[in-house]
Amino acid sequence: MEKVFASIITIGDELLIGQVIDTNSAWIAQELNKMGILLKHRVAVGDVREDIWQALDEESRQVKLVIITGGLGPTADDITKPLLCDYFGGKMVVHQPTLEHITHIFENLLKRPMIERNAKQAEVPDVCTVLLNKQGTAPGMLFTKEGTVFVSLPGVPHEMKWLMTHEVLPRIPELFQTGFIEHRTLLTAGIGESFLANLIQDLEEALPPHIKLAYLPNYGMVRLRLTAFGFNKTELAAEVTHHFNLFQERVKEHLVVAEDLTMEQVVSRMLKERGQTLSTAESCTGGYIAHLLTSHPGSSAFFTGSVVSYDNRIKQKVLQVSEETLQTVGAVSEATVIRMATSVREIMQTDYAIAVSGIMGPDGGTPEKPVGMVWVAVAGENRIETRLFQFRYDRKRNIELTATNALNLLRIFINENR
Ligand code: ATP
Ligand code: MG
Repeated sequence: MEKVFASIITIGDELLIGQVIDTNSAWIAQELNKMGILLKHRVAVGDVREDIWQALDEESRQVKLVIITGGLGPTADDITKPLLCDYFGGKMVVHQPTLEHITHIFENLLKRPMIERNAKQAEVPDVCTVLLNKQGTAPGMLFTKEGTVFVSLPGVPHEMKWLMTHEVLPRIPELFQTGFIEHRTLLTAGIGESFLANLIQDLEEALPPHIKLAYLPNYGMVRLRLTAFGFNKTELAAEVTHHFNLFQERVKEHLVVAEDLTMEQVVSRMLKERGQTLSTAESCTGGYIAHLLTSHPGSSAFFTGSVVSYDNRIKQKVLQVSEETLQTVGAVSEATVIRMATSVREIMQTDYAIAVSGIMGPDGGTPEKPVGMVWVAVAGENRIETRLFQFRYDRKRNIELTATNALNLLRIFINENR
């Protein structure tokens, strides 16, 4: 067995100029990685025949699998399919099952006449294996040339994902003798990357060459990821677990979770396990904490709702923050978030409440209350905890940092309440 490498080529002018963000590559890379395929390159090319041709040539020289997405739609600027036909030396033929599928979509779902341009999508090079696209009209295609497998998929993300999941990934074990990749992740909070590096230096140095450590800092937390590559799955898993346990033990004071989860997932799980509930009162985050929590299915089991009290009148009228508090210490103050948290917890009848109020920027800062200053309160039945944060980034990042740190505060609060 040997390492199997793949490259991903994304096609489209819109991707090249950054008008559309290439999310396909990241998703495909992760899925291939899970199956033990290593990534060599991720290449973006415009809708230019010579460039696509050249990318195919260059990548196929270096890898056993080339995944191509984009350029298969019904519009005339698309040149990918005829190019693939020439590249692999075939001629265009109608693929009957695809034609029937497209006809069905137009007659039964869209209920509008199918035009020539749509019917043309059922034409494929006669040298490919057609991957029927049940999510759309453009079929996927699989080619083989000089020992390299090429897969061409539509660029529309949900169609690409469907074809990868149902038609491409299941063929991987037949096509290649891949090794195995094992990932293990530790999420830490409250310790900077360099301190963490010092703390685990000897463990990192003791890692064998086929186990790599990555530091992935984000939102004031650091994710530590061990990635191991090998051909014996059982042995590999045991070996990674051994090292992983050492790391976990070493960072235990700063450990949030020994899995690849986000902060809101960790908090959600804690609440679900305990059968407890949460509400939020959000000023500067405008409901972002509520959004994070409700982005995952099953959040209704513990999350009741949020009061987005952006305007001071709402802080007063709905959350009973007093006129006096607002006049004297202001909306961004400890007293305000304490009242916000206490009131929302009462209104929503929850076990816990989070309240945040701050200045996210770029405007609105003063010498006493600079941009990035945020008060957070976490309230429980008998206790309330507050914390002042000072973030230093742009608005978007300040909001994200506020949300994550507020959730982390709640996590610690719940753990202490135990
Ligand atoms: P058009 O004809 O409008 O150029 P298309 O026929 O070329 O589209 P695709 O290239 O398959 O069809 O892409 C369809 C849409 O899918 C694109 O407009 C883009 O919004 C999205 N898309 C394409 N590639 C990617 C990618 N790598 N990541 C995320 N979205 C993508
Ligand atoms: Mg395109």
